[in-house]
Amino acid sequence: MTDRIAVVGGGIAGLTLAALLDPGRFEVTIHEAQPERSATGSALGLWGGARKVLHRIGALPDDTFRQTGGALHRIDGRRLVSVRGPGPVLVDRPTLLAALADAVPPSVRRVAGEVTDPAVLDADLVVGADGVRSRVRGLVEARAAKRVPTSYVALRGIRAGAPAPDEVGEYWGGGRLCGIAPMARERSYWFTTHRSALVEPFEVAAVLEEARSRFADAAPAVNRVLADAGLDTLATALWVAPRMRSYARGRYVVIGDAAHAMLPNLGRGACSAIVDAATLAKSLNAGSDLRGWQARRLPATQVARLGSAALMRTALAIP
Ligand SMILES: Cc1cc2nc3c(=O)[nH]c(=O)nc-3n(C[C@H](O)[C@H](O)[C@H](O)COP(=O)(O)OP(=O)(O)OC[C@H]3O[C@@H](n4cnc5c(N)ncnc54)[C@H](O)[C@@H]3O)c2cc1C
Repeated sequence: MTDRIAVVGGGIAGLTLAALLDPGRFEVTIHEAQPERSATGSALGLWGGARKVLHRIGALPDDTFRQTGGALHRIDGRRLVSVRGPGPVLVDRPTLLAALADAVPPSVRRVAGEVTDPAVLDADLVVGADGVRSRVRGLVEARAAKRVPTSYVALRGIRAGAPAPDEVGEYWGGGRLCGIAPMARERSYWFTTHRSALVEPFEVAAVLEEARSRFADAAPAVNRVLADAGLDTLATALWVAPRMRSYARGRYVVIGDAAHAMLPNLGRGACSAIVDAATLAKSLNAGSDLRGWQARRLPATQVARLGSAALMRTALAIP
């Protein structure tokens, strides 16, 4: 008998899973609330494990850039430590989503629309790949249904021109954080984080104005990216998932941000989503019990969730 799998969410986790599930064995449907969102977004840093999965399904974009050095600076630009060796590979998020969509076999049914109640989906297994606002998470663990706010706001952008080598890296301290990295095609990716009382939905101009004032005494490179940033800058309030004790219950399972949305400091959120999806597909294709999958993925991803929060606190606390 073919098992029917409903995947709620056609983002990085949901598309990776659909690309790797055995089409001879499973009838797969992806439900995506906002298919048009896949064309938006800035850049993502991808580490080795996630790249290996993407390479296997032909979804690692060609247009990537491997960072090989940089420095950690105080927020005013004084160098704290030089960083050598290969960093993550930077990819354009829309390019990655398009490559993942291409890797999904034609047998997978794509439904555009929000799933308001996953409990009524007609499927043998319901996979919550529905991000930090997950509706499936509460069906796995009722106490973990709600996402958790933080007081942080992130700004992200891509600008023309490679950064000067001595500008590359992160800038930490005084309640603020900024990163500047080179990207393919002579571009730079930058991001900032600061504490803010602004509430969503954001006016990008208001968040930019606040950031320019908060970072006024930061390094010249940081001030330059903020001064040049336009209204296409992404302004995001950072939310995280609550701690979870299990990722699977009955016919429900959660992966990616739905299971462990974390602060972005380790650059591990999308990477973990990709590895969750690949390992879940492997277990399902082999007909294995989901408890084995959970025993491998839950500790690693919950540690990353805690580690990201600890790194954020450290970065902002530097005087
Ligand atoms: C500032 C910032 C920087 C980051 N940088 C990095 C980085 O460098 N490296 C890295 O690995 N990660 C990074 N991340 C994290 C990364 O963006 C996320 O971990 C990743 O997008 C999670 O993918 P996902 O598929 O689990 O969830 P999402 O990307 O949130 O996708 C969920 C999908 O489900 C859909 N959906 C939600 N609810 C429903 C519903 N009820 N019905 C139907 N569809 C639904 C949504 O529309 C969406 O398409 C960063 C995050 C932030 C905020």
